[in-house]
Amino acid sequence: MLADQYGRKINYLRVSVTDRCNLRCRYCMPPEGVLLKKHEDLLTFEDIETVVRAGAELGIEKVRLTGGEPLLRKGILDLVKKLSAIPGIKDLALTTNGILLGSMANDLKAAGIMRVNVSLDTLKPERFKQMTGSDDWQKAHDGILAALDAGFGQVKMNVVAIAGYNDDEIADFISFAKDKPIGLRFIEFMPVGNAFWESSKMLGTEEIKKLIAESVKLVPVNNKNSIADEYQIEGSPATVGFISPLSDKFCKKCNRLRLTSDGFLKPCLATKTEVNIRVPVRSGMAGTDLRRVFYEALRLKPSCHKMDQGVVDIARHMAEVGG
Ligand code: SAM
Repeated sequence: MLADQYGRKINYLRVSVTDRCNLRCRYCMPPEGVLLKKHEDLLTFEDIETVVRAGAELGIEKVRLTGGEPLLRKGILDLVKKLSAIPGIKDLALTTNGILLGSMANDLKAAGIMRVNVSLDTLKPERFKQMTGSDDWQKAHDGILAALDAGFGQVKMNVVAIAGYNDDEIADFISFAKDKPIGLRFIEFMPVGNAFWESSKMLGTEEIKKLIAESVKLVPVNNKNSIADEYQIEGSPATVGFISPLSDKFCKKCNRLRLTSDGFLKPCLATKTEVNIRVPVRSGMAGTDLRRVFYEALRLKPSCHKMDQGVVDIARHMAEVGG
């Protein structure tokens, strides 16, 4: 089992499979988009498989595919099949904006994806257009329904809560989810080096809870392992979770490493420290030597981020590291 110097067990790897995205969310990337990596610098499926296999030998059990937009990666189903066959990987999940999910949900399930999170921050198509630059709200919405139909069980819906943008939609999200096996997740807006961020736009978890309490009762769910503070909506199959990286830092519970699409292990989302694993993989490194690269990333994992103190020390936009 991988554990860091602070005693945290690390069993979760988030894998960004591409830096490309079909949205231009203003809270996630600069208006001009991100500078895309050269094709030859992106990890191949074989590279990713080698890294995940090495991680699995060290106790990584859970892998989440993210991006960019992971469903834009050509041949993604082949990667899913490869990763789901790795011994030790017990949970293979996906985070997507949902736009391409309608046509892919069944195939993703058949290939081995077990759980899906869809990011959708508004139920109003015109607001979606204003925030993301895209007319595809309906496709994203239908992607959630397709995932429910495909039988993934509970489908999580990620909502970044932004004051002045979607704070008047909290009750609408609850109504949308209430009759479905949806896990709503309200995520605090993080200052990850983006000019769109202003402290006044951050909508804290306690405020969202107050807004929700106006329409439904939330019953606490005991889930010690989750970084989200989770509740069941009384009388409904839906749950609501709050992810509060700023108002209630969960770094003590952090169990993850990230792999960027160009092959760097990132110990923490909010710091710029990275360890190159692409070069070792491509030079044929394997076994103990490759596992040592994981240990190096772990050695550099900070005890906690300092975003809440205004310290934003990142080298990449969220759009590249997968949130
Ligand atoms: N394209 C995929 C998607 O839309 O889910 C995966 C990548 S996206 C960067 C992953 C998650 O990061 C999304 O749920 C997104 O809303 C979230 N995210 C992006 N910027 C954020 C920010 N500044 N604060 C909080 N969450 C953010």
